[in-house]
Amino acid sequence: MSEHCIIIGASHAAAQLAGSLRQEGWEGRISIVGDEPYLPYHRPPLSKAFFVGEKSEDELLIRSAEFYDKNNIDLLLGSAVTHIDRDAKKITLKDGAEISYTKLALTTGARVRKIPFTGSELAGVFYMRDLNDVKQTHKFTGPGKSAVIIGGGYIGLETAASLRKIGMNVTVIEAMERVLQRVTAPEVSAFYSRIHREEGVDIRTQAGVEAIVGDQHVEGVRLADGSTIPADLVIIGVGVIPNIELAEAAGLNIDNGIVVDEFATTNDPDIVAAGDCSNHYNPIYKRKLRLESVQNATDQAKIAAKSLCGKPQAYSALPWFWSDQYDLKLQIAGLSQGFDQVIIRGNSEEGRSFAAFYFSEGRFIAVDAINRPKEFMMSKRALSSGQTADPLKLADESIEMKDVFN
Ligand SMILES: Cc1cc2nc3c(=O)[nH]c(=O)nc-3n(C[C@H](O)[C@H](O)[C@H](O)COP(=O)(O)OP(=O)(O)OC[C@H]3O[C@@H](n4cnc5c(N)ncnc54)[C@H](O)[C@@H]3O)c2cc1C
Repeated sequence: MSEHCIIIGASHAAAQLAGSLRQEGWEGRISIVGDEPYLPYHRPPLSKAFFVGEKSEDELLIRSAEFYDKNNIDLLLGSAVTHIDRDAKKITLKDGAEISYTKLALTTGARVRKIPFTGSELAGVFYMRDLNDVKQTHKFTGPGKSAVIIGGGYIGLETAASLRKIGMNVTVIEAMERVLQRVTAPEVSAFYSRIHREEGVDIRTQAGVEAIVGDQHVEGVRLADGSTIPADLVIIGVGVIPNIELAEAAGLNIDNGIVVDEFATTNDPDIVAAGDCSNHYNPIYKRKLRLESVQNATDQAKIAAKSLCGKPQAYSALPWFWSDQYDLKLQIAGLSQGFDQVIIRGNSEEGRSFAAFYFSEGRFIAVDAINRPKEFMMSKRALSSGQTADPLKLADESIEMKDVFN
């Protein structure tokens, strides 16, 4: 049988993997099978520029239709894969069709975590992951209307900023003590709460949702304290879970994601996995990670393509991420989980620009840089090459960034 690589899932990791396969010299057939009806598109603008109408649907595309055509990449869109038969090396589609493969790539990503609130089936209640969801929300947005966002993570806060931009009244409900609690230091959370409040967002922390209320259409969100916040639109952003069921049923190893080695290969040597669905060992942080970022989807997909082409290269990229809210460009390099010291450069209590450097047992592990591109770039370089920094120098803005790392 001639070589055929099937890529399951059609998003960031898939688009990169298919292109990288050709670059690495894969001469066989390539098919991308995706359950969404769209060409692979950028998800980050869904809560940002696309949400406020500053980007069109066409501008979301990761690659143009011509790219797939030119590189002889078949696209089977609107088709969910329901089964993988590893012995027969075949996949089955929802309509029962079977397709044979010689190599398989799993880029199935993640889906939103759903919380069964009473009333979550009402019109005007949305989760934020897919283009279809976001297109639907547009019917419920408009100046003067009210929105309640459940979840004060990055996506919730980005959506809040976007809705303020179009003149809506916005309330963010966060169950924990502070917004972004799982991912940042208290100083960074306090900064974002301050900015959102200055921009007119009502931020409620340690607030529990009891029910979403309304008659057919959402009318409000009732909190545990008995109060009800009026809403024409409710957006729930409380995290995602990896799409592992297909891999699990096929007998692949699963542990908070599809387990892959440093070459993005699963326990089946003919099957790779990359992106939000995969769990891999990171040599910089010396632990297993499942990341939810465009950087990881893209970089790991390149590694997976190399493995499929018989040119294995270990994955060792530094994780990085960004979040845009109002005029604030947050750039994150590294992973701050497990930090025991935070150094602030600049003033987080006033203004709109500072950087938070995270340390663990004296080792520099991550930075959150807000409107501080130089701090981000230099930290990224230092983290990638294992350099550390003197915390006292970092805190002193009279010392240039280039003189801080050693
Ligand atoms: C609103 C929003 C804002 C974001 N902002 C940022 C940001 O600012 N910066 C950043 O780095 N990251 C951001 N992210 C995260 C980023 O988009 C993800 O990390 C990235 O999309 C992961 O890409 P992926 O290819 O691994 O998976 P996904 O993008 O999740 O794609 C997986 C695809 O596979 C499909 N699929 C699953 N199972 C099957 C099946 N059985 N058959 C066929 N198809 C299947 C899914 O439907 C989906 O289309 C954001 C995400 C969202 C939703």
